[in-house]
Amino acid sequence: MANLHDLGFWQAAAKSLSIESRAFINGAYVNSADGATFECRSPIDQRLLANVAACDKADADAAVKAARAAFESGAWSELPPAVRKKVLLKFSALIEANADELALLETLDMGKPIADSRTVDISGTARAVSWTAEAIDKIYDEIAPTSPNELGLVTRQAMGVVAAIVPWNFPMIMASWKFAPALAMGNSFILKPSEKSPLTAIRLAALAKEAGIPDGVFNVLPGYGHTAGKALALHMDVDTLVFTGSTGVAKQLMIYAGESNMKRVWMEAGGKSANVVFADAPDLDKAAEEAAGAICFNSGEVCTAGSRLLVEESIADAFTEKVRAAMKKWRPGNPLDPNTNVGAIVDDAQLQRVLGYVEKGQAEGAKLTQGGSQVAPVEGGLFVEPAIFEHVQNDMSIAAEEIFGPVLSVIRFKDEEEALRIANDSIYGLAAGVWTSNLSRAHRFARKLQAGSVWVNQYDGGDMTAPFGGFKQSGNGRDKSLHAFDKYSELKATWIKL
Ligand code: NAD
Repeated sequence: MANLHDLGFWQAAAKSLSIESRAFINGAYVNSADGATFECRSPIDQRLLANVAACDKADADAAVKAARAAFESGAWSELPPAVRKKVLLKFSALIEANADELALLETLDMGKPIADSRTVDISGTARAVSWTAEAIDKIYDEIAPTSPNELGLVTRQAMGVVAAIVPWNFPMIMASWKFAPALAMGNSFILKPSEKSPLTAIRLAALAKEAGIPDGVFNVLPGYGHTAGKALALHMDVDTLVFTGSTGVAKQLMIYAGESNMKRVWMEAGGKSANVVFADAPDLDKAAEEAAGAICFNSGEVCTAGSRLLVEESIADAFTEKVRAAMKKWRPGNPLDPNTNVGAIVDDAQLQRVLGYVEKGQAEGAKLTQGGSQVAPVEGGLFVEPAIFEHVQNDMSIAAEEIFGPVLSVIRFKDEEEALRIANDSIYGLAAGVWTSNLSRAHRFARKLQAGSVWVNQYDGGDMTAPFGGFKQSGNGRDKSLHAFDKYSELKATWIKL
């Protein structure tokens, strides 16, 4: 268990923190080619943290050139997997060794509670790197069944230059789900963090170098989506583009790939997950606690947030009361206080988006029964009380659209058939939960849910050992597990006449 220190420790650490804000290209920190920067402000109190390099096309070109040269040199790409494993294990250990600093950067930058940064984000990132490193020298290629006078080899080959564009809600973890398998396979990598949370990515670059990753193999390109991100997505010498973010941007990136070199594109996109509670759930108190956590954790800024709570009619009143009580325990507070469980909203645009949906829900006829107001546990900060809407119809905007904030929609259903219809009536298909004591129903329902992850009698389980990704407009391909390597390699069939 991480040492969480106390508020005083983190406040003092925040004051003495020195923040690197430049891009990292070819093994060195550099300003953007034209010297442009953008302001990085903390949502905790809106104070200026850094002026960060605002990269654009020239910087993307430099990063891709360095990445390509490093790949061609073989300094990383042609190392035995066991050697890459050793370096990546050191990288993971360095992430752990610098956990306090990284956690503080994450919390200051995007506003999440320090306890979550420390125990979820940093630990999760270190584990993603170490688990993937451990796997890479245990994966075998294939020999095809052939006639005796031929040998058919089926081998995986690194792609070359991989670019990743990631969001701000779990900046380090989302990045690590990409760079760990990409690097393990031998690719060179360029990371474009969100302009809303670039700081940990920038710091990670120095740790990658310290671990022994050669210059040019791990590059970080901070900047906006329409500049740095677009330049990477349209680049003719990027072989693979991996993305986590909204469905709208994911679709645009697929167009960019088609307009350029048909680079491989792998998308982890949005979600509007249904959490379905039947009257025969084994423990309604636990179900209510987890339903509250499913929308309040990380201020609901979670792609798998259980934002649609489907409740069987016969228990709806009593169960919703339990959920309201459970949600009262999730209270916005100073993110630097280890006792805080709801942090700040990443920036004012996102806060206004959340408040806008709270207004819209009421205008469309749903009943706001708790929360939904802006609050200020820290002066000048961007915070909102978790909100619960009842009597929601699945076609209202608060149920159909991804809010990406702590706003729960409770929808009632009559029977299993109706529950399934409502749960699947979404453009998204990222995750879903189902609560029932009926084993047959649990299997039947889980199989029919259109979702990449399904949780039975729990919400948000998972590990590096299992794949993660979406059906429908939640994306394609999978992060985590051995399946993740598919994104970072081409399959080659080699036929040898004997
Ligand atoms: P976003 O789509 O606005 O931005 C994501 C990234 O794309 C950022 O780095 C941004 O700068 C970049 N970008 C924006 N426009 C671009 C363009 N035209 N060209 C290239 N890059 C561009 O998403 P966000 O607000 O940062 O994150 C929230 C979204 O991420 C939600 O939809 C959430 O569901 C999704 N998400 C999905 C998963 C998953 O695994 N499926 C995980 C976390 C978050």
